[in-house]
Amino acid sequence: MRPEILVLGSGWMPDVSAKLDRRFTCHHLANVAPEERQAYIARVAPGVRGVFASGTVGIDARLAAQLPQLEIVAVHGVGVDAVDFAALAPRGIPVTNTPDVLTDDVADLAVALLLAAARRVPMLDRYVRDGGWEAKRPLMPSRALRGKVAGILGLGRIGQAVATRLEGFGMQIRYHQRSTANSAYPRSASLLDLARDSDYLVVCAPGGPGTQHLVNAEVIDALGPQGTLVNIARGSLVDEAALVTALAAGRLGAAALDVFEDEPRGPAALKEMEQVVLTPHVGSFTLEARTAMGMLAIDNLLAHFAGEPLRTPVERTTS
Ligand code: NAP
Repeated sequence: MRPEILVLGSGWMPDVSAKLDRRFTCHHLANVAPEERQAYIARVAPGVRGVFASGTVGIDARLAAQLPQLEIVAVHGVGVDAVDFAALAPRGIPVTNTPDVLTDDVADLAVALLLAAARRVPMLDRYVRDGGWEAKRPLMPSRALRGKVAGILGLGRIGQAVATRLEGFGMQIRYHQRSTANSAYPRSASLLDLARDSDYLVVCAPGGPGTQHLVNAEVIDALGPQGTLVNIARGSLVDEAALVTALAAGRLGAAALDVFEDEPRGPAALKEMEQVVLTPHVGSFTLEARTAMGMLAIDNLLAHFAGEPLRTPVERTTS
């Protein structure tokens, strides 16, 4: 008999959807109207042995408590900040994620955002479309990347991949994280030091309570009027109100953001700003990465139900 799983989130790549439905009896919560979801969960809960979650639609203590037979949570994503580990750990429920298979594509987007902000690509696109070029409206030059400093907050898998790419543009790399990385790049002792030393601050650390608003007003001010903030990690890492205030006052030069505190809305003020580049949380949103992520999440579920070692378990018990 196929194991029953509760599928949270939606938008899986075609091969992933097909395999999910082939290998499991799936209860797709996203297909149920929001007002009917509680009744639906109550109805299917007795049979549910696994949860297939996304990086942003995770499992909280309430949902975990509603699933008495829950054995495993497989996250389709590397960030596990939407999972309440404290609710799962006492029941010995393992959590898996999908590291590595998305690293290159997320790093590519980080670099695309950094370049777009540095060379003001969205603004220049509007300039051509809106007739600014024909009308010879004044245009300021942008700034070169060569010789500038990129500070990486979180030199993990994605941070390393971003650093390698930016070196190719002639940038100098620094980083900050809690541990010393196995890397030749200089480590700044604090995030504040990193921001002071950097022209571009690229946020690549995990979200969750431990990193909430790490990039605060002080850090943003240290980055300064010529500085640019790039965030491809999680919106929760950045104090967005402070970011908006600093950009509006010219205390920060520019920002390029893939993630926001309140998705999918994002602050209205940012949408009005010329010096801001915005993308809708699409770091891993390529056919290749999303397919590989889905397959890896499925492989973790299959390994669990076959009594085999998990492919990519998350090695921690608290969030
Ligand atoms: P990773 O390999 O675990 O790297 C995370 C790095 O952050 C580690 O080197 C870690 O070093 C550092 N870090 C953790 N806590 C920190 C803190 N409090 N202060 C400073 N640094 C800290 O993870 P990854 O695979 O690179 O992924 C990073 C994040 O990217 C994910 O958690 C996810 O939220 C985000 N992401 C976003 C997208 C998107 O679509 N935009 C896609 C994929 C991933 P220490 O432990 O030594 O501090």
